[in-house]
Amino acid sequence: MKLNFVCDCGNQVAFFGTGMNDDQEREIMEPEDDDRLQVMVLDSGLVLTCRFCKQGYRLPNQSSDFAY
Ligand SMILES: [Zn+2]
Repeated sequence: MKLNFVCDCGNQVAFFGTGMNDDQEREIMEPEDDDRLQVMVLDSGLVLTCRFCKQGYRLPNQSSDFAY
């Protein structure tokens, strides 16, 4: 396991390395169960949405300006 997502509602999804690397030697990771977590990549950053309680979480794209 490389990363473990835990929502406030208790939903947990582990991310596993696939053993495949991209062209910059970064390992590709995948969530163990995409029925429990939706992963979206937007211009503003990475968005994780819990499919149980619909809470969303965002990792900001560091190259974009923060807009709070
Ligand atoms: Zn949740």
